[in-house]
Amino acid sequence: MKFSLVIPVYNEEKIIPLLISESLRGLSTFTDDFEIICVDDGSKDRTLELLLEQRKKDTRIKVVALSRNFGHQAAYTAGLSFAKGDIIGMMDGDLQDPPELLHAMYQKVHSDTYDVVFGLRKERNEAPVKKVLIKSFHQLFTRLSNIRAPANVGNFSVMNRAALEAFLQLQEKNRYLPGLRFFIGFRQGFVEYDRPDRSIGEAKMNLSKLTRLALDAIFSFSKLPLRLCLIVGILGLLFTVGGTILVLSFKLIGRAILGWSSVLISMYFLGSVQLVFLGVIGEYVHRIYVETQNRPVFIVRKYYDS
Ligand code: UDP
Ligand code: MG
Repeated sequence: MKFSLVIPVYNEEKIIPLLISESLRGLSTFTDDFEIICVDDGSKDRTLELLLEQRKKDTRIKVVALSRNFGHQAAYTAGLSFAKGDIIGMMDGDLQDPPELLHAMYQKVHSDTYDVVFGLRKERNEAPVKKVLIKSFHQLFTRLSNIRAPANVGNFSVMNRAALEAFLQLQEKNRYLPGLRFFIGFRQGFVEYDRPDRSIGEAKMNLSKLTRLALDAIFSFSKLPLRLCLIVGILGLLFTVGGTILVLSFKLIGRAILGWSSVLISMYFLGSVQLVFLGVIGEYVHRIYVETQNRPVFIVRKYYDS
């Protein structure tokens, strides 16, 4: 049974040789029949060059070069679309997903116990702020989505061909892959692990990149007015709550209350609520807009295959 391992990489020149040797070592413990599909997500450093160097030594390493940086989730999607294996794995390119775990994951799919097996992070070693933000996101996602996904799950996973085909049928442009992977159903199991911090190179999805990405998105797709509605609305709401507390406490200690205060506060309150709602609706409208544009999730410049 052929195994395809998909690894997205963006500006990872420091780690490429180690990444490949560790991946080969991890894979060799359970199969010789594999391909490693590295997706170069428009790196600006020597990532692609180093990948092609590795490919010269072992042609089981294939390289998908995207035409520019499309982002982590798009890069995974690109790699998956080229995978020819009967069993397919997804692993980050910074060795935060330990390749030695692939064996246990592969085994559970190969033995037909599960169709999808994902890595469940017991402990996460990241910068404290990032850790808190990620945790809050996961909790919120689990609460808000109707997908009963456990928190602390990322892209690290192994699945069979049937699950992959179902996964690839999901064509939406805003792709949160761990969510989509739960959406497809099938028999899903997990392998627990402690997620180590990055040992080489910096996170490409750090806070400043996310902020810059957010700004890029605003200016190139002009969603700024919608976001502003939401932010101004929330600020207005906070201001109103503060004002109300202030006015009430003045009243309690018997200080003069001007009659127009309450009118002003309720006016602000309603105005803010309306702006918040408008912002939220805007978020959905924007997503509909992106879907109807129907731009591809990724564009391949070249596929280095044998
Ligand atoms: N990555 C990518 N495109 C990007 C950003 C990141 O292909 O635009 C890759 C990156 O090289 C790494 C993986 O996605 O292999 C995870 O990225 P990172 O470690 O920065 O994310 P985190 O671990 O912080 O979620
Ligand atoms: Mg990482």
